[in-house]
Amino acid sequence: MEIANKSYQVNTYKRFAVEFVKGDGVYLFDKKGEKYLDFLSGIAVTGFGHKNNKLVNAAVSQIDNLWHVSNLFTSTPQEKLAQKLCERSGLDKVFFCNSGTEANEAAIKFARKFGNGKSTIIVADGGFHGRTMGSLSASAQNKLWEGFHPLTPGFKNVPYNNIEAIKNAFDDSTIAVMIEPIQGESGIVIPSKSYLTDIRTLCDNNNLLMIVDEIQTGFGRTGEIFAYQHNDIIPDIVTLAKGIANGLPLGAVLCSDKVADAITPGSHGSTFGGNPVSIAVANKVIDLLTEDVLDNINSLGLLVKKLIEKENIEEIVEVRSKGLMIGIKFTSKVDVKTLAQKFLDEKIVVGTAGNNVLRLLPPLIIKNENIQHFVYILKDLFNKMYISTKAS
Ligand code: PLP
Repeated sequence: MEIANKSYQVNTYKRFAVEFVKGDGVYLFDKKGEKYLDFLSGIAVTGFGHKNNKLVNAAVSQIDNLWHVSNLFTSTPQEKLAQKLCERSGLDKVFFCNSGTEANEAAIKFARKFGNGKSTIIVADGGFHGRTMGSLSASAQNKLWEGFHPLTPGFKNVPYNNIEAIKNAFDDSTIAVMIEPIQGESGIVIPSKSYLTDIRTLCDNNNLLMIVDEIQTGFGRTGEIFAYQHNDIIPDIVTLAKGIANGLPLGAVLCSDKVADAITPGSHGSTFGGNPVSIAVANKVIDLLTEDVLDNINSLGLLVKKLIEKENIEEIVEVRSKGLMIGIKFTSKVDVKTLAQKFLDEKIVVGTAGNNVLRLLPPLIIKNENIQHFVYILKDLFNKMYISTKAS
């Protein structure tokens, strides 16, 4: 079939012209067979790289047997994954869905059902929780809301990384605080070390639920399976998606027994949630996240930061990182969208986020030499840009 010149897809994305048709490990290949180093992982999704043998085998053997069955029936693989997620997170129960925004919708519903009349959820300015109406309303960013009013009521936004603001915001109608442990879409904004612990204490002292959105930070990205584990706390509700099945659609809500007890058959559900193929892959992904792998993610993250900082690139304001979740904040002299295109021209895939931040979310299996190559290209691009600026 001839592909038309115009796109028949709704214009929700400003897409790069390059089309990837194949992946292998930390590399992507375009239609001409050109090889690109993947430093984005489909925005924190394909942590174990492309065409990972163990994951491909898990998916293929499940497809061979059964690729859909209703959630009306028992599933041992779902039960196994639920058990592993509870054991690794310290939570008690799991609900499976298909995406991040759906996980957050479920978390909001669970919190309100538990609240039994109390419905207000405190959220942070600059937060991102998804695009469906509940998650969107929880994402306190005017630019995301434009044209979509009326929003779902019952969210109160406060500045991020400010525990006093939460203390001043909650009242008798409040049931939960919902927070990203690191704000990803807003440009890898890392709060103070005590922020999450302080929220936990505040929630404990005031009978509020602590909801942590680990959709971007989860599954090893920050050097722990879940980013809240850098603090010695367990939230009441944790939402997951992205890296959970290395690219197959799956989302999950983890919650404590007290929250789960509020939910009964008919309260919530999903036709596709916990699809057998996604579950088969997720069961392998969680097994792959061993202590050694997590330690390695921490060392690699430190190496990226060290090597970038060593270059002393004048236009870099700061490198913000936790594990392999890395944001490079540039001065206004640099337009990060143009910079991302220049990286693509040099066959490296990177992302952008927030206020002039280059976002790096490389596969968790990246090697030292891949990092060195990235930094070499970064340095080279700035040398060239400096020369061209000087010449003009
Ligand atoms: N929450 C966070 C922290 C995210 O980063 C994202 C996606 O970027 C979402 C929720 C929404 O996830 P999805 O795109 O799977 O709906």
